[in-house]
Amino acid sequence: MHYVILRDDDTSAVTPTHVLDTLYRPFLDRGLPVQLSVIPKVNTRATLPDGRPEWYLPNDPTALAETIAIGEHHELTAYLRANREFGIVQHGFEHTFQEFLATDDLRIRRSLYDGAKLLVDAGLGRPSTFVAPQDRISPSALRHLAERFRVVSTCWFERAQVAGAWWPPYLLKKALGRPHWRAGECAMLSHPGSLLTHTREPRAQLDALRRHVGNHRLTVVVTHWWEYFRREQYDPAMLGLLHETADWLASARDVRVVSFDDVARGLVPLH
Ligand SMILES: [Zn+2]
Repeated sequence: MHYVILRDDDTSAVTPTHVLDTLYRPFLDRGLPVQLSVIPKVNTRATLPDGRPEWYLPNDPTALAETIAIGEHHELTAYLRANREFGIVQHGFEHTFQEFLATDDLRIRRSLYDGAKLLVDAGLGRPSTFVAPQDRISPSALRHLAERFRVVSTCWFERAQVAGAWWPPYLLKKALGRPHWRAGECAMLSHPGSLLTHTREPRAQLDALRRHVGNHRLTVVVTHWWEYFRREQYDPAMLGLLHETADWLASARDVRVVSFDDVARGLVPLH
């Protein structure tokens, strides 16, 4: 059996509810879980490295308050509570650029605590899983994440990030060429980059995705809702790709779609 986790990043208090439903209705109706990385308190001034507003912000973010907690988007949080196939993942705190490259222990701890509290206060439950903005994690942040969460999902792990006590499992993973490993009780899951993205041809993407899943025990598939709704316009080719992916995942006999919580509960083999 091959296992797939579908992870969609950058849901926040400025995400239109209809976009998530348009993208994921074919998954939800088939009982396929979808993992949403939710920004607890979105910073509407966050920019890309070139200074443009982040892709997940609306066209005129300066008209909004500087930060908005997820609980302020009542329509979205009610929708997420009503559709339990959505798994809620903590995605940083404000999602400012590389915020978890911080080395200040107090700041890291406070961001993790305050972020989780905002998700709980919004009725979304206490997250078992963490995803860092831009997949960037400092060594001290990784230590705190492993203590606080049951799963960390990121693009890759480097030896310099990993505390000495975890070198044996980390080096074993490297030696065996495995994507995933465990730091104590915490499952450390890497992913192969964005397999579903508007920058590549849809047919080639689905073929690459099927190949990757077939060659691995557990694949974390990362995408972003704003790739299907760029600057507030739906992209029909990307939507078609996503819904074709849902058809394939629902019909493939040797593939099971699981949640991060399933991994946290030890129900999914990592390799
Ligand atoms: Zn993000």
